[in-house]
Amino acid sequence: MKSAARSALLEALPDAARAAVESLAAAATRRGLAIHVVGGPVRDFLLGRPVLDADLVVEDRIPGAALELARSALPDAKITSHGRFGTVRIDVPDARLDLATVRSEHYAHPGALPIVAAGSLDDDLRRRDFTVNALAVPLTPRAREGRAPIIDPTGGEKDLAGRTLRILHPRSFHDDPTRALRAARFAARLGFTLAREARAALRDALRDGAFGRVSGDRIRRELEKLFDDAALGTDPAAALRLLDDWHVLAALEPGLRLPRAAMAPLRRLGRSLAAPPWPAPRVRRLSAGLAVWLAPLDAELRKRALQRASVRGDAADRVAAFPKVRDAALREFTRARGRGAIDAALGGLGDEELLALLAYAAPTPRRRILRYAVEDRPKRIPVGGDDLAAVGLTGAGIGRALARIRAAVLDGRVRSREDALALARELGRRPRTGRARPPLTAPEGPRREGG
Ligand code: ATP
Repeated sequence: MKSAARSALLEALPDAARAAVESLAAAATRRGLAIHVVGGPVRDFLLGRPVLDADLVVEDRIPGAALELARSALPDAKITSHGRFGTVRIDVPDARLDLATVRSEHYAHPGALPIVAAGSLDDDLRRRDFTVNALAVPLTPRAREGRAPIIDPTGGEKDLAGRTLRILHPRSFHDDPTRALRAARFAARLGFTLAREARAALRDALRDGAFGRVSGDRIRRELEKLFDDAALGTDPAAALRLLDDWHVLAALEPGLRLPRAAMAPLRRLGRSLAAPPWPAPRVRRLSAGLAVWLAPLDAELRKRALQRASVRGDAADRVAAFPKVRDAALREFTRARGRGAIDAALGGLGDEELLALLAYAAPTPRRRILRYAVEDRPKRIPVGGDDLAAVGLTGAGIGRALARIRAAVLDGRVRSREDALALARELGRRPRTGRARPPLTAPEGPRREGG
């Protein structure tokens, strides 16, 4: 297999990605440039795992070379270029390709973004996080000249076989502490262990305070990837457990940990993200993950953790409020009679909160949450605000009546538009005596479109 690494790796790619990579390789050959598949796809290919995307480097020192090559090889593809070194993203129908020119990196101070300069393929592989991610497969004849079928300057193949994450130099975590978060993610995903020297290097970086200097945006992006991995079947609790055991969480924010009470819910959330119980294509996995992870911590620490990871705005507010929302919803479930009451209790929650709630619920409430999300939430009622205004309701009375009609529809007491209008008329005639027990969140009229 090794000698045929190039063709076997290309075979492993989705069809459109393979065709695009072949076109890039042909264009590079015409220019006399060497081009390689590098990093994650080589690792995953050698492990026999699915290769979903391709990272490529072209050996050219001219910034902008990657963009020029991509445009000439793939004139019809969607190509975007970013960064001073002109890294190029190419979207093909079934995958994403990243193409860069080879480069070297160094760090002005620990935790800073790297200073990037043109370099050789060897520099490019040696700037990487782990030996198993520092492998390249040459694609062009020029790239293969005098070289092994797999270029492995740091012993990555041996570490793949030993299922080990080994850093490339002792100050790797000082340079970029986010590599510890990557290590936990790869360890959880691939079942690898962090090499003994890497553990020692991590301890040194922790001792020297390297983690305090990492920006919130970088932490958030790594946590995003950690919860995105759950969609591919990795248990998010496993990666967070490692980060806790390694004392990385507390180094990011004093007191931060993975509470034992969050572990089983995180595992359940992971399963929901891998096999969504209802269609939620735009679910923010990070928000659902943080809601579940941070719920057992005290409110002050939860807020600090969100601030540290630069999670702001509505997403942060919802994660911060989740434990209260969860407790109120689960309490409501014990008294709610009928589907209408459940709908009113859960009506203001987004997919992220519903998934987090599901992760914490016992089997009976779980079934009710699922029935709500799958069957009841998408239901539309047969009348709108204008219909109610036409029968004489006004102002806030319209909102209240819509909520009552919705509950009656879900409970099966209103089956047609006529029934709904009759109930509306009755509500319009009835004097308002006190208010029914308020739902968990204010009803928003019939239900915003799209759930
Ligand atoms: P995934 O399967 O999660 O996409 P990947 O290995 O492809 O994993 P990316 O985050 O896409 O990971 O990064 C691509 C490559 O860039 C990695 O394989 C690694 O070689 C290198 N890399 C990414 N982040 C770092 C980092 N913080 N330090 C050093 N090298 C990195």
